[in-house]
Amino acid sequence: MAGSRQGRGQDIGIDLGTANTLVYLRGKGIVLNEPSVIAVDRKTGEVLSVGAEAKRTLGRTPEDVVASRPLQDGVIADFEGTRHLLRHLMAKATGATGRWFRPGPRVVVCVPSGITGVERRAVIEAVGSAGARSVHLIQEPMAAAIGAGLPVQEPTGSMVVDIGGGTTEVAVVSMGGMVAAGSIRVAGDRMDEVIAKQVKKDHGLLIGERTAEEVKLAIGSAEAAEAAEAFEGADELEVRGRDSVLGLPRTALVTAAQVREAVEEPVAEIVAEVKRTLDRCPPELAGDVMGQGIVLTGGGALLRGLDRRIARETGLPVRVAENPLDCVVVGSGKCVEEIEELRRTFAVSA
Ligand code: ADP
Ligand code: MG
Repeated sequence: MAGSRQGRGQDIGIDLGTANTLVYLRGKGIVLNEPSVIAVDRKTGEVLSVGAEAKRTLGRTPEDVVASRPLQDGVIADFEGTRHLLRHLMAKATGATGRWFRPGPRVVVCVPSGITGVERRAVIEAVGSAGARSVHLIQEPMAAAIGAGLPVQEPTGSMVVDIGGGTTEVAVVSMGGMVAAGSIRVAGDRMDEVIAKQVKKDHGLLIGERTAEEVKLAIGSAEAAEAAEAFEGADELEVRGRDSVLGLPRTALVTAAQVREAVEEPVAEIVAEVKRTLDRCPPELAGDVMGQGIVLTGGGALLRGLDRRIARETGLPVRVAENPLDCVVVGSGKCVEEIEELRRTFAVSA
């Protein structure tokens, strides 16, 4: 107990996402929201920039600079890179400058439900070596459900579907636990990949992941009807890239229908995972979900028409959470606010 008052206000919740990392500071709320990207000097290994600044250099860095995303498919792919990212963001969030102060913050960080023990230990180690005094893990779908305001402690089933960059997490929660869960490594990044492939196939144009994401945000959709409403006619986008044969820069006009065709496969996989998880759910709780419906969180929830598509295929009411990109970190933040009780509820401490 000693030191817990001193540490107060320095406890943080982290949503260490494949696409974005958000930090919640106890007593303050969300203080940071940055892309999970770092730019490193290839020769010296020095970190040149982190977050939004590094993301701008993705795909257009000179030879001696590598911009990379240290998290892939929801888990740590580059340990050192993740540690840098965390160290930088944790110091920024807690106002620490220069050398790390002691004691470091206590940290609640969420992890996808489908990860292995090794992947889980890597997260604990990365957060620990970035300066945390203690690390508590919470399951991502649980954090998303809490952040979306679902009644997770009640004896009723609530379903949350978190669609991030690397993974889609589906879970039915009841009485503080997950009664059914599914996790697939198909989410926003996969949509970007298939859009890039489609543009190459339809237009012979090579585009990078950043451009593919821009196309998705501008004219992406999962349902034709929704799209028509949303776009009001402006359903095409001029895209810049490199000719796949001649190698020269040029543009092409990509249509919403082409993007829809491209994302059909990942969208269908997400829908299938939702159905599988409903199937695995005990009958009583499935009944609850029927009544309450499904809540979508994560950036992928913003794909136009995805809510309607899931509703149509499951026959259940579906809604997108308010501020879907913030749900997971808000959920972790709520746990941070009650960090003293945490051990008794959802989290495992390390
Ligand atoms: P993660 O938890 O993996 O960091 P996020 O929940 O932050 O992921 O969501 C990031 C993903 O959401 C990215 O793939 C991004 O392209 C996607 N995204 C963000 N806004 C939209 C939008 N309006 N339409 C479709 N996808 C979106
Ligand atoms: Mg996420």
